[in-house]
Amino acid sequence: MAKYIFVTGGVLSSVGKGIITSSVGKMLQTRGVRVTAIKVDPYVNVDAGTMNPYMHGEVYVTIDGGETDLDLGWYERFLDLNLTMNSNVTTGMVYQTVIEKERRGDYLGHCVQIVPHVTNEIKRRIRYVARESKADVILTECGGTVGDIEGLPFLEAIRQMRLEEGFENTLYVHVALVPILDVTGEMKTKPLQHSVNELRRIGIQPDTIVARSRKMIDAEARRKIALFGTIPDDAVFCSYNVKTVYEVPLILDVQGMGEFVRDRLQVPTREPKWSTWKGFVDTVLEPHHSIKIVLVGKYAGLIDSYVSVNEAFRHAGAKCQTEVSMKYVEAESFEKHPEKLVTLKDYDGIFVPYGFGPRGSSGKIAAIQFARENDIPFLGICYGFQLAVVEFARNVCHLERADSTEINSSTPFPVIDLMPEQHNVKAKGATMRLGSHKILVEQGTLAYSLYKSEEIDERHRHRFEVNPLHIPTLEKGGLVFSGKSVDGRRMELLELPGKFFFLASQFHGEFKSRPDKPDPEYYGFVKACLDRKLEGSKVKL
Ligand code: GLN
Repeated sequence: MAKYIFVTGGVLSSVGKGIITSSVGKMLQTRGVRVTAIKVDPYVNVDAGTMNPYMHGEVYVTIDGGETDLDLGWYERFLDLNLTMNSNVTTGMVYQTVIEKERRGDYLGHCVQIVPHVTNEIKRRIRYVARESKADVILTECGGTVGDIEGLPFLEAIRQMRLEEGFENTLYVHVALVPILDVTGEMKTKPLQHSVNELRRIGIQPDTIVARSRKMIDAEARRKIALFGTIPDDAVFCSYNVKTVYEVPLILDVQGMGEFVRDRLQVPTREPKWSTWKGFVDTVLEPHHSIKIVLVGKYAGLIDSYVSVNEAFRHAGAKCQTEVSMKYVEAESFEKHPEKLVTLKDYDGIFVPYGFGPRGSSGKIAAIQFARENDIPFLGICYGFQLAVVEFARNVCHLERADSTEINSSTPFPVIDLMPEQHNVKAKGATMRLGSHKILVEQGTLAYSLYKSEEIDERHRHRFEVNPLHIPTLEKGGLVFSGKSVDGRRMELLELPGKFFFLASQFHGEFKSRPDKPDPEYYGFVKACLDRKLEGSKVKL
């Protein structure tokens, strides 16, 4: 029988509830417990696909093509899982199902209400994941903070789950910020007390509280949190600031949280095994080398827009014992100030990530041209791949004004064009080419030396592709398409032989990157940047 852990948040959002949820999962997993995780998001969007990454952070793509909240990325990276889209439940989804049922007549005669119909649908979705995953423990993180109007049906659903699943099979973790006053250094627990009160008003008494604080909480703060939270002192834990988020499960376990959760849920466990995880954390904390990579993007102002990319670089860096420092540059700045392009010389590698629409595209193309002409290691992802094709078509194949039709629909050379099946698509939600697809990698190429396999599976999120009409011209110019879809129609990887490292992919390798299993394209790129910096010599893989 599955057991459930529910994680709620108080005081403020964005205090790292996703990391703490992942860490609780990690503490159990490392003791041999099978875990999975769900994010419930109270917003009314059906999924995260239509949300601006600049406001909400990146859209994470699951193997089955779900466009989900970025916290699923943290669950996958910490727990090395491949979740499905069912692991992200939104108000939009829940209501969509309930309303469809109502229209079908499934509730005929009944007045359809938040309790029980909406709450039943929430519980059904959580239990569905429990069955689908066959996990022993299902962690459910509630997005937002306690007290948000939109979150109430979700909290009511998890309240009911204690009644239905039993006390020993459910655990409530409450995470809240404990600010420290700059002037006196005093730890203020009052906001946390209020959020616990709010939770109790809804009918949930937390079993354990994680104080999120800059420093380890002192005895006085712990005593207050325990007293006002009505929990024992030893059920209070602290997630204080650490250099890397991958330390969080370690610092919580040292405080006894792993044992606490295990005892409370009575799950059979073995001795925790931390050696691999610790090894990774140590290399992140004490790298031998460092490289500088510039990300030329559109959402460069918000770090969460590229969270999986950043982590993929961290994982790849750890394997090379290298700290990868990322500099984010708005692509548009190269359009307004082309003289700034030469500053790209100061970096060990140039990275152009995914993106949409014309804004900033010329700046990205200019950066790619700079990388190619100056032989600076280059990696492009999705839009970065497509724009590398545009740049090559214009500047090497002399197809003047070649473009992607996403940028210029009347270009004479539409080297990147809408996929045929996209022509009649009007709706924006969940209509791109999404999720995992097989790719055949050509032997003897750079890509093959990285993937060491003729067949790989990678995640996608795009509407446009390389236009098959122009492939012969591009290939004649020297561009090598080293990975293709199984039917050979879709170009998935490109490279430029003779360059130090010039690789781009239509897919997103970052979604598969894990701390101890860096993604091959990111790893190859980081390794190349390091090789070039250290010895100026060719890539040795
Ligand atoms: N805008 C491009 C497309 O839709 C690239 C998408 C992306 O970078 N994820 O194909």
